[in-house]
Amino acid sequence: MNLSIDTECCIGCGACAQYCPGHVIAMDEEDRPYEKYPDDCWYCGVCQAECPENCIQILFPYLVR
Ligand code: SF4
Ligand code: SF4
Repeated sequence: MNLSIDTECCIGCGACAQYCPGHVIAMDEEDRPYEKYPDDCWYCGVCQAECPENCIQILFPYLVR
């Protein structure tokens, strides 16, 4: 898991899946995003930046000091 996606605040717009350059995110049958290919994420931040409702947080696997 590279992302925390708050499905309560998600409006199902699909922007995160559309703009992810690695095609990591897909939409399920209920128009909610999920990490389809989590190993392909390189933490670029595009999904977080493009979400109009600020529902996505990136979970970095390391601590930047
Ligand atoms: S951080 Fe970048 S590569 Fe990872 S899911 Fe978001 S948009 Fe895709
Ligand atoms: S961009 Fe945000 S509101 Fe739109 S589908 Fe993704 S998580 Fe939901």
